Amino acid sequence: MTDGHLIEQTPTRLVGLGVSPGYAIGRAHFVDRKKIKVPHRHLEQSDIESEVQRFQDAISRSEQQLKSLKNRFQSQGQEHDLILEAHTMMLRDDMLIKGTEQLIREQALNAEWALQKVVRGIKKIFDNIDDEYFKERRADIGFVADRLLRNLLGKDEPTLANIKPDSIVVAHDLSPADTAQMLNSSVLGFVTEVGGRTSHTAIMARSLELPAVIAIDELTEYVGTGDLLVVDGSNGRVHINPSQKELKRYQDRQATYEAEKAKLNAVKQGFAQTKDGHRILINGNIELPAETNIVIEHGAEGVGLYRTEFLYMNRSSLPSEDEQYESYRDVVEKALPGHATIRTLDLGGDKLADFIRVESEDNPVMGLRAVRFCLMHPDIFRVQARALLRASIHGELRVMVPLISRLDEVRAIKSVFRQCRRELEGEGVPIANDIPFGIMIEVPSAALIAQHLAREVDFFSIGTNDLVQYTLAVDRGNPHVARLYAPMHPAMLSLISIIVGAARGACIDVSMCGEMAGDPLCLPIVIGLGLKNLSMNATSIPLIKAMVRHISVSECENLVNEILELNTAESIETAVRWRLREMLTGTPCEPMLDALFDDPSMIGELEDY
Ligand code: PEP
Ligand code: MG
Repeated sequence: MTDGHLIEQTPTRLVGLGVSPGYAIGRAHFVDRKKIKVPHRHLEQSDIESEVQRFQDAISRSEQQLKSLKNRFQSQGQEHDLILEAHTMMLRDDMLIKGTEQLIREQALNAEWALQKVVRGIKKIFDNIDDEYFKERRADIGFVADRLLRNLLGKDEPTLANIKPDSIVVAHDLSPADTAQMLNSSVLGFVTEVGGRTSHTAIMARSLELPAVIAIDELTEYVGTGDLLVVDGSNGRVHINPSQKELKRYQDRQATYEAEKAKLNAVKQGFAQTKDGHRILINGNIELPAETNIVIEHGAEGVGLYRTEFLYMNRSSLPSEDEQYESYRDVVEKALPGHATIRTLDLGGDKLADFIRVESEDNPVMGLRAVRFCLMHPDIFRVQARALLRASIHGELRVMVPLISRLDEVRAIKSVFRQCRRELEGEGVPIANDIPFGIMIEVPSAALIAQHLAREVDFFSIGTNDLVQYTLAVDRGNPHVARLYAPMHPAMLSLISIIVGAARGACIDVSMCGEMAGDPLCLPIVIGLGLKNLSMNATSIPLIKAMVRHISVSECENLVNEILELNTAESIETAVRWRLREMLTGTPCEPMLDALFDDPSMIGELEDY
């Protein structure tokens, strides 16, 4: 091995979730979050108030620390201080803070013990919620409690300050504070054992544009500080102490990828038009208002999907109308001159079960989710509808409703918006006259009745993530059936074709905002099926725009005509790969596609998995 490693290490490959594309090659820096020992002490009555004061001092110190971390984020031009803001808000959370103070006073427990008990109780509530978002919020509580405990005990945080340049951070999990520290270091990428696509680590990785692979089972069993790592954030793989041959292959890929990324970045602004003169609108998907600038910097013309459920996470109470209005206004203003398509709440039944007391469900994905939840809880939904209407005067707002499966849902939601409009107008609140109202088509029943739905709305947006899940009966988050999750399944192509046909028939706009829209391999299919409005993650935009500029709608249509004859996802994918290569040979996109997939020398390796 190189760099003074005397003992030859066994190469190991691990597979996880690639949440931020690109390649990182460097030495591991293992972040060990040892559990803090919590002292348990009963207090004398006379010591209780000074103990409460000690707890409050720890809160103040924690607030100060988060404030200075936030400043570091801002000075770096990063806007993800929202997560730190959420942590700061938790320091004012009644359940956590008042709950701990109450235990100190009522049970005469020392502050650390009382805090530990309260945190356990809160985590238990989160444990019963089977949802990725809420798992993340559980982790947040852990980070905040950890900070408080360290401040109570006068212990330093595990720090990344002594990290060697060009390291790859390896951890069970990373807190936003950890990632903030990485801003000033030259960390190359990160790898964690837990997390999901929407975890902070994933969001931060994408915004810092650092390759990252998360959700690797037993990662920390395999890696130690100093191990040589290759992180393939595009394909979700981590190679530990790779062979010289493997290392060389990845070094070449990385060099090509970085060189091509720089070239694509130079041309990411400006609109995307195909060789035969068709404009393809490229918008960005966001989860937080602060990401609006990020997608625009990556070349988005506006926001095609704002997942507002993020506003409802991270907290123990619902966001107020004013708070929501400020967030929506922020997105709408920053997206100008483009549109901001804001999606109404997409929370599942179980996700809110303990939060706002609804019955828990056995199968929440098919349960009281999204529009169904909103119609069952008009009190909650009306707050959002009012906030959206109020934000409409600040830009080009489009409102979109998720998980529509029947016509009456559309009519019912429209009626709530009409009532809220009347109410606000009565209060003298200005609202834009014309707010395009659309629905997501992400359930097969909606696709099959698209021609009826089209008469009721101004636009459709195809949510392929759920459309694949519900069409193929493949849970989108279940690793055991991940191989069956196939956006190129012939059933998907038929449904998309029906949706686009219905939209055309009714002369309404149709866009796509699921992951398929930003997948380079799917692009010729999506364009060939007639889509001219796509919304995707920030990092997908430069390549997709470049590809659009080097293909023509007519060749994509020809390709679609060919593949509609094929009967399996695999044969379709093979045909598309083949034709896409033909279309892009000799264009600036070719090396980037090579760096991302299709390298014949990878085939053996892929088969190993
Ligand atoms: C989709 O289902 O494709 C979509 C964009 O919505 P989400 O991923 O938020 O469910
Ligand atoms: Mg969806």
